Amino acid sequence: MAQTITTAAGFVLIATGCTDKATTQGCYDPEQLSNAQMNLRASLNYTDLSTSTSACRGCSYFTQGSQTADCGNCAIFNGSVSAKGHCSSWSPKA
Ligand code: SF4
Repeated sequence: MAQTITTAAGFVLIATGCTDKATTQGCYDPEQLSNAQMNLRASLNYTDLSTSTSACRGCSYFTQGSQTADCGNCAIFNGSVSAKGHCSSWSPKA
């Protein structure tokens, strides 16, 4: 079943399907995320470890967190992500 999600940044996204709560880089506890939050991450192909040179750390939606240097906040997901992560909405910092 498709689900419409409006993020804190004002984006409206359509999420479909489910995802298992995969391992993380320790930046968030997948068990604490709702299914909608997990589906949003899945729909944008989020991964905790980027296989390209475009990682969350260099994304305009990323804000370095105070927890550790390897974690930060994603404005689209409205939650913590790995600085080494990546998703299909990656956009270079200006
Ligand atoms: S939009 Fe994607 S690439 Fe950018 S910080 Fe969020 S999860 Fe990382």
